[in-house]
This record gives sequence, C-alpha cells and structure tokens, in this order.
Amino acid sequence: MSHDNVEFILVEPSHPGNVGAAARAIGTMGFKNLSLVKPTKHPHPESRARSSGGLDILLNAKVFETLDEAIADSSLVIGTTARERRISVPIDLIHESTEGIFKTSLNQKVSIVFGPETSGLSNDDIDRCNRLVYIPTGEMYSSLNLAMAVQVIAYQINLSFFGLSEDQSQRELASGKEMELFYEHLEEVLLQTGFLNPNNPKQLMRRLKALFNRAELDDNEVNIMRGILTSYQKPRLKQ
Ligand code: SAH
Repeated sequence: MSHDNVEFILVEPSHPGNVGAAARAIGTMGFKNLSLVKPTKHPHPESRARSSGGLDILLNAKVFETLDEAIADSSLVIGTTARERRISVPIDLIHESTEGIFKTSLNQKVSIVFGPETSGLSNDDIDRCNRLVYIPTGEMYSSLNLAMAVQVIAYQINLSFFGLSEDQSQRELASGKEMELFYEHLEEVLLQTGFLNPNNPKQLMRRLKALFNRAELDDNEVNIMRGILTSYQKPRLKQ
C-alpha cells in the first residue's frame, strides 16, 4: 500500500508543538509513518496535545540519532526546502514530483525529509537526497511553519495518489544504507588514488553524491560501482 511506504522525517525539530502538529497533519492525509532525528524535546506534553487524532502516529514515531539511520531502508529520499539552493540536486515543485513518489512507494520506501525550524536542512542532509521539492509561495516570503509545510506536502502527495494507477511497476532502487556504504567506499578509493585531496574532501564528495543521487541507482548498478572500486583496490591490496 503506497501510503504506508511513505515516511515523514523531521530533522532536529526544536518545538514539540510542531512535532505534534506534524503527526496530526500526516494522519489526516492517510499516512502513518513519522520519524524524528535528534528532536530537541521528545516526548513532550505539548506535542501530545497538538497531535490530537494523530496521537498514535506521535507515540509510534521512530527516533534516530542521524539522518543516515532514518533513511537506511529508503529507496527514494526527497528533501524539502523553502529557498533556492545553489547546488546540483534537482529541485522541483512538490506537485511535479508526486508521480515519482507514488511509483516508488508501490513497492519501496520513500522518505520525505524536513529541516529544523530555524536553519532548514544542512548541506550534509541535502547530500543524501535524490531530489529536493518546494511549495510555491509568494516571492517575498517563502518559509512556512514546519508543521504547515508537512501538511501541504502530505496533502499534495495524497491528492496525487488518487489519480494514479497501481499497476505502474518501478525498478528496485538501492537503499539509503547501500548508498551510504557506496559513498564511503568511493571516498576511500579516491583518497587512495590521490584524486581526492584529504585537506579539502568536501566539495568533490558533495558533487559526486549529487551526481549519483540524481541517477537514482538500483541495487545492480550500486554493485557494479562497488565492483569497479574493489577491482581497483585488489591488486594494490596484494602489494
Ligand atoms: N529558514 C529555513 C526555513 C525552515 S522552515 C530555510 O530558509 O530553509 C522548516 C522546514 O519546513 C524547512 O526545512 C522545510 O523542510 C519546510 N518548509 C518550509 N517552507 C517550505 C516551502 N516553501 N517548501 C517546502 N518546504 C518548506
């Protein structure tokens, strides 16, 4: 069932009221999976009060220390942002991305990731996203309250799910955990070859992650990439 394969992840939410309101928001749109990465205050009476009919969702929310752990079994990771980012992660209007979310959610997990109230998603978080989406707003002010952003995005995904037929199969994309291991392996080999400067590794790895995230690799493709990396390492390991 598509709705059950969609996970809403709040990264470091600081206001418990927003956590409760987000639980309610996703519940009203037929979703049930909420994850929290390092919430500042959780559990908290205010989140309980604000969750209303979404209390079950709040009580069953999974809590993680890192975003990597939260997306470990997700095949498609969609970040949400209020502002334009000067990076190479594709950015779409939310309604443009819902068909892809639907197709993947038929048989694989999709994560929709929301940033902290004050700062939004960090660059490291964005480096783990296949795509970014935004809610179109007025030109002067684009930043919605966190729980309201969750509501609008959950509404849009739910709305689009009505019109789409379930017999669209989707190739099996690699999980967040497989991608994380691939990036570690890639970084290790690039350090060994000297292509990656250990004093300034960030920019290159960010660009490479954006490249591979955009490609939405499946299991086989990740295995091929890992095989290529290992084939480089093997003769050198023997020396
Ligand atoms: N000052 C932050 C805004 C944080 S709002 C910034 O400029 O990025 C908290 C979160 O709500 C954001 O990280 C994002 O996940 C979501 N959000 C707020 N406005 C949004 C919009 N217009 N489109 C998509 N997500 C939005």
